[in-house]
Amino acid sequence: MEVSQIFKQKKAVYSFEIFPPKPTSMLESIERVLDGIACLNPDYVSITCGAGGSEVMGNATFNLAKRLKNEYGILPLVHVTAIHSEKEDIIAYLEELNEADMHSVLALRGDINPDRKLSVSFRYASDLIKFLKEDGRFDISAACCPEGHPESVSLEADLDYLKFKVDQGVTHLNSQMCFSNGNFYRFLDRVRKAGINIPIQVGIMPIVKTVQIERTMSLAGVEYPADFSKMIYKHSNNPEALAAAGIAYATEQIIDLVSSGVDGIHLYMMNNTETARKITENVKSVIRNVNENDV
Ligand code: FAD
Repeated sequence: MEVSQIFKQKKAVYSFEIFPPKPTSMLESIERVLDGIACLNPDYVSITCGAGGSEVMGNATFNLAKRLKNEYGILPLVHVTAIHSEKEDIIAYLEELNEADMHSVLALRGDINPDRKLSVSFRYASDLIKFLKEDGRFDISAACCPEGHPESVSLEADLDYLKFKVDQGVTHLNSQMCFSNGNFYRFLDRVRKAGINIPIQVGIMPIVKTVQIERTMSLAGVEYPADFSKMIYKHSNNPEALAAAGIAYATEQIIDLVSSGVDGIHLYMMNNTETARKITENVKSVIRNVNENDV
């Protein structure tokens, strides 16, 4: 089973994003994350690769994906980034993925690390996607930005490039985190009018720690709606209250999105199984109702 096939079976797909452990972190902490995820039955789990431009070809990503698949029976969606990789690196990595029988990939341009050499083979995600499509063995997902990519000159240009990217052979899109369902619905309307008809999952990031506020605020191209800003600033002095408010906000977003018929939710769980567990508890009956009773 690959990621694109799940969308043929389910109206609302529910998945998580995790990141590989840092080399310095304790082994048992990732064990705990994997055990926690397995109890929550996601449709698949995506694993980041060198986010922030930290690593080129993802050994850590590959190893974690392999564990998810072989030890936990969970389908991994392996992130593959282009901007600091040459064709030879990608060819070697694709062989490894193929040998490990992992064929669902999220093809990205990747975060740019100013200290690293830029690829001469690939400039945009669409270059990598074309390459993967020609290879023929992979089920290709890609990213989209509902509120516009920070480097794009306009929403229109961003949409044109997104359409071009999808036409290279993408079967499904995962969105950048989005805190405004209204903005996502407007994006979906524009995307469908542009003739992009593949499933799009909404990226939901539960804000449960103050450090996440600073990190997501610094991400240009992500809007904080007024009600959301009010809530997180009000409770940023109190970890327990902030976590409760962040989980409630993400829960409400998901219930509204799933009830409105979006193709799925991709939860940026930040390796926090407790948050993922609480949110999953809150939304699972709604997701099940949509999938089982075709409402
Ligand atoms: P692209 O689709 O290539 O777009 C990048 C920019 O170039 C956009 O502004 C687009 O409009 C423009 N553009 C595209 N094509 C053209 C063209 N032909 N001519 C001119 N302009 C063009 N980063 C990591 O490093 N590792 C990860 O694991 C990771 N996971 C992510 C997961 C998701 C779901 C998302 C949304 C992002 C993730 N990122 C990750 C961040 C991502 O790499 C950055 O957002 C990056 O800046 C853009 O990646 P992209 O694949 O969307 O790029």
